[in-house]
Amino acid sequence: MIVTIDGPAGAGKSSVAKMLAKRLGFRFLDTGAMYRAIAWAVRRDRLPTDDVERLEGVARGLQIQVGDGRVLLNGEDITNKIRNSEITALVKPIADHPGIRRHLIDLQRRIADGISVVTEGRDQGTIAFPHADCKIFLTASPDERARRRHADLLGKGEEIDLREVLQQQTERDERDSAREFGRLEPAVDAVSICTDGLSIEQVVNRLERLVRERMA
Ligand code: C5P
Repeated sequence: MIVTIDGPAGAGKSSVAKMLAKRLGFRFLDTGAMYRAIAWAVRRDRLPTDDVERLEGVARGLQIQVGDGRVLLNGEDITNKIRNSEITALVKPIADHPGIRRHLIDLQRRIADGISVVTEGRDQGTIAFPHADCKIFLTASPDERARRRHADLLGKGEEIDLREVLQQQTERDERDSAREFGRLEPAVDAVSICTDGLSIEQVVNRLERLVRERMA
């Protein structure tokens, strides 16, 4: 069974998807981490992000493993190095690249082949898994999302102004929504849930009910 959870940054997808997968005994697939892993390699090797063809070749040559909350790039654990503002800014040209998107979608499908997964991203219900059994689109108001992201970054020791987080978020939303291939949008058959004012627990309860209904 495939459960997709898509939505904008800060809607709570990661925490919710992780908890939901655990409750259901499904594998959790963090697809944002795959884009971030490529961005990390680009930064490490100081590659120019405007050399589109080279970038795709580099991406295809990397071995990316995501699972159990860890992210490995060619065997190196980069989990704690990819969730910061610098990498977030670098992800943009990578996520806009249709060839890289196709490569990562193939990888996501291979991982999900024959097993049950909760997969989280922007295009999981629309492009990666159009035949998924249960599709969810999580949203929250821009202010609420920026507050959550801000608290998250502060918790990691990154000093950043709330207004700056909000501005980066607006830019990212615009870019994610304007992308030609793999843009952020709910699948026509997705259930949309706004998480404003709801705890993670409340959202997960609701989603678990929804998935179990579909399973039955
Ligand atoms: O979810 P996360 O913030 O880690 O994603 C990082 C970036 O990767 C997003 O801003 C988005 O541009 C891109 N992304 C994507 N498609 C996905 C997952 C992430 O384009 N399925």
